[in-house]
Amino acid sequence: MTTDKPTTTNPDPLIFTGHDSPDTYSAIPSAGQLPATQIHQMLQQQWGEALLQRLHVIGRTAAALGTPAYLVGGCVRDFLQNRPAPDIDLAIEGDVRAVAEACSTEPSGVQCTYHPHFGTAILQYPDGFQLDLARCRIEHYPAPAALPEVQPGDIQTDLIRRDFTINAMAISLDPEKFGDFLDPYGGRMDLQRRLLRVLHPLSFLDDPTRILRGLRFAVRFQLQLETGTRGLLEGALTQDIFARLSGARLWRELKYLLELSDLPAALEELDAWQLWPLLRPTRPELEALLAQIQRGQQEINWFHYHFPDENLCDTAVLLTILWRDSPWAAAEKRLHYWPLAGGRHILSDLHLLSEMPVALAKASHPSAVARLWESLSLPGILALLAEYPETGAITESGHYYLLKQRGLTSPLNGKDLQAMGLAPGPQLGKVLRRLHDARLDGEIEDKETARQWLIRQGILPSIQP
Ligand code: ATP
Repeated sequence: MTTDKPTTTNPDPLIFTGHDSPDTYSAIPSAGQLPATQIHQMLQQQWGEALLQRLHVIGRTAAALGTPAYLVGGCVRDFLQNRPAPDIDLAIEGDVRAVAEACSTEPSGVQCTYHPHFGTAILQYPDGFQLDLARCRIEHYPAPAALPEVQPGDIQTDLIRRDFTINAMAISLDPEKFGDFLDPYGGRMDLQRRLLRVLHPLSFLDDPTRILRGLRFAVRFQLQLETGTRGLLEGALTQDIFARLSGARLWRELKYLLELSDLPAALEELDAWQLWPLLRPTRPELEALLAQIQRGQQEINWFHYHFPDENLCDTAVLLTILWRDSPWAAAEKRLHYWPLAGGRHILSDLHLLSEMPVALAKASHPSAVARLWESLSLPGILALLAEYPETGAITESGHYYLLKQRGLTSPLNGKDLQAMGLAPGPQLGKVLRRLHDARLDGEIEDKETARQWLIRQGILPSIQP
């Protein structure tokens, strides 16, 4: 928070302008309404006995060291929704290293990796399973959008530093109260009501990346912005809060967004949250753009299916689609700030793409068509295909180029030509290029047909020694 005091000192973080009526809060279930025994049973059912026993061991070990341990954050949210939790995060109210090392003593087979810089540890179990441990902390934001100053805290301070109520719940692993449910901000009720709510009024100003995190959660769990939170979002946008964020932090969040398989839904949400300026200068014609994005995702999947070992920057395909009808300078400005490898290619593709359909239609030889496709980067090719139906001349031509023509090379290389008596230099380069074209046009197949072709073209004498 942009106050002089740590966020934890806010006496009632839930009361702020535009929030739901106070009655809403009296309806939020207290911890007692989800008893520890029930949580225990649910953990056993959802996560299985083996993991439950591991959590018991950590709870006992931490308690013996006087450092209570909790399940916290996204895994609690996912657990309450009976969804698989990909990462299990534990918050420790004391010395993380001591707990992690005590859990990894022989003969458990558990390996511990401690990261002193972050004060975090990873416990790696013999079956490959891992748990992430972090120290409970207090965060203080010295300025809007600045990185927080961090100091050790307890579980209460650790929960209030979090982004949304649905991510600010914890479950105690302490042997005395294993399964106790901590939900000071009503995250469980918000999950039930499908509401996305921040914990305090300065949340988005402190850390605008939360806006894009929230958008992802909204799409993933079909959440609505709670009224007060919507007001805070609008206020933060009025203050142009994203302008204070570094390009690297903004790009990290945008990249996560673009990588969502449900990207069309995310862009619809982005539209509703009025966040287009992050990606492009104007609001697009939404329906057409979403259809192209979907086509783009199809093309990306097509490519990964046919070329599983080849790298493709999927986000470059999507950005090219997003920027096709925007001024080039708008794309350039964004790429100037975002650390996106391959940004240069996007800009050159944006220059070339408009000319491509006419040029492709005019191209008379397969080699001419291939040369046109070759002028685009891989993401640029797929972005162009996204503008056309799955079955149609342009898509067919693009797929043919990628599958058949792209890998074709001249059967003779520079060394072969020199061995045949051609002098090194620019002329040799031209001959190589013509040979490549002849291969693309199906006029030559191998070294012998290439040699005969060179003779026919008068490049080699008809009688060779
Ligand atoms: P996912 O399933 O996408 O990983 P997650 O909630 O676990 O969801 P993480 O990015 O792993 O997402 O973050 C773990 C937890 O850390 C969150 O649940 C949230 O409580 C907290 N958190 C992460 N980023 C922020 C942030 N920018 N501001 C406040 N709290 C955050």
